[in-house]
Amino acid sequence: MSETTILPPGLLLVLSAPSGAGKTTLAHRLLRETPQANFSISVTTRRPRGKEQEGVDYHFVDVATFQAKIERGEFVEWAEVHGHFYGSPQSTVDIARANRGVAIFDIDVQGGQAIKRKHPDAVLIFVLPPSMEELERRLRDRQTDSDETIRRRMLAARSEMERGIAAYDYVVVNDDFDRAYSELKAVIVAEGCRRGRADVSRLKLGV
Ligand code: 5GP
Repeated sequence: MSETTILPPGLLLVLSAPSGAGKTTLAHRLLRETPQANFSISVTTRRPRGKEQEGVDYHFVDVATFQAKIERGEFVEWAEVHGHFYGSPQSTVDIARANRGVAIFDIDVQGGQAIKRKHPDAVLIFVLPPSMEELERRLRDRQTDSDETIRRRMLAARSEMERGIAAYDYVVVNDDFDRAYSELKAVIVAEGCRRGRADVSRLKLGV
């Protein structure tokens, strides 16, 4: 990033997608290649799956700990999903605001909408698969889910996509990973140049 690049005052970027759309891979690349980006590690009451690690994929806590965090106002948003609680730490927002960084939230549509209600300048991006057939093929290729789970995920995907397309600021179709990634980067660059968001006061323009 050049010295005259105007960084937004803490860009809150929400990425949502049905599982299988490739959102997490996009988020990881964005994190690797954006030095000022900070990934929001959600807190959840569900148990770790597979290779998931505490403090990397999620912070895994029990229900009582989660409730205490709600009471202390430690979440910018929280929700119940499939019988478990999930919450995004308020500290991720505070750090991004303080450092003029980019906070990336990998959460569902209800979470994205809750963040937007509190922070209207948050940017909501929905990642779409190229087709329902391709989404199902990707879910089957993972070989981790039963037919019943895949059927449930496909139903959930349809309603999540309907809500995301209606409510989100941007949609990125992930048919070609590199193209989808460059579209995501373009959104961040454009949002950084938004009038009102850009910090022009520190430039020596005399205006
Ligand atoms: P999973 O258990 O498969 O990791 O996630 C289940 C769902 O919860 C996904 O749609 C994921 O995006 C969503 N999720 C994960 N963390 C959060 C969070 O902090 N807040 C909200 N609202 N949803 C979350």
